[in-house]
Amino acid sequence: MEKAIIFNIQRYSLHDGGGIRTVVFFKGCPLRCPWCSNPESQSFTAEMIRKERLCTKCSSSSVYECRVDPEYCPTGALEILGKEYTVKEVLEEVKKDIVFYETTGGGVTLSGGEPLSQGIFVIELLKELKKLGINTAVETTGMGSFDIINQVADNVDTFLWDFKIMDKIRSLEIVHADVELMKSNFEKLMKKSSTVKVIPRLPLIPGYTSDKSNIKDIIDFIVPFGIKEVHLLPFHQYGSSKYKALGQDYILKDTKPLIKDEIEVVQNYIQSRGITAVIGGN
Ligand code: SF4
Repeated sequence: MEKAIIFNIQRYSLHDGGGIRTVVFFKGCPLRCPWCSNPESQSFTAEMIRKERLCTKCSSSSVYECRVDPEYCPTGALEILGKEYTVKEVLEEVKKDIVFYETTGGGVTLSGGEPLSQGIFVIELLKELKKLGINTAVETTGMGSFDIINQVADNVDTFLWDFKIMDKIRSLEIVHADVELMKSNFEKLMKKSSTVKVIPRLPLIPGYTSDKSNIKDIIDFIVPFGIKEVHLLPFHQYGSSKYKALGQDYILKDTKPLIKDEIEVVQNYIQSRGITAVIGGN
């Protein structure tokens, strides 16, 4: 049976799709966005984190130099992120909240990392969720094979599709993504006869994605496909402590979020192009 490496199954989420949702976070991503708020999602293998606030430095000044087993950490500061699950095991978890999905119009969102990187498992899981009548969403960068995207589209209700940097060279340099592949996959998906809902999401990252020219390039690209709604995801610093826990540098640690007026400029521009721009999405 197919297995996937997952680092979190978060219940009672009010984000990433409508209603109360369970979000399944897949480990592993081919991109390296410097603003990533889930840096623990990037590696395809399990890894250990050290929570600074719980660490009493009992055995070494740096856990990365010693070989402490999380089981023997007296304060619970050490944790292994990433565990293999079967489809059945994920279903057992998500079924616990089926009553909330029914009463709130919620469901299950597959996130990451990049779920398409574990596409065969994702397709199997979506088929089972469909049999149970559970609403589903997949958050993706669109970076995967179209064969997988095509099969996901046949089994999911909504794609939450991230648009990051549209310039080919900057995209490769900054997030390590071939934007032409993403664009080609999006185009094929939009031309496919399907009932799947596609919502583009635009992370607004100062100095990287939120400049006028990048936003215009994204809107120019999606307008011909009849897109009526996008979600704007303003930059935040919620992920910064995770870089420390992983022992990694966070190059955006001093970056300030956009102010309300700056976000509204982007929102107004997009709305002037005939597209509803929801800040934060849901
Ligand atoms: S695509 Fe998402 S998970 Fe991957 S590096 Fe970028 S922000 Fe992080």
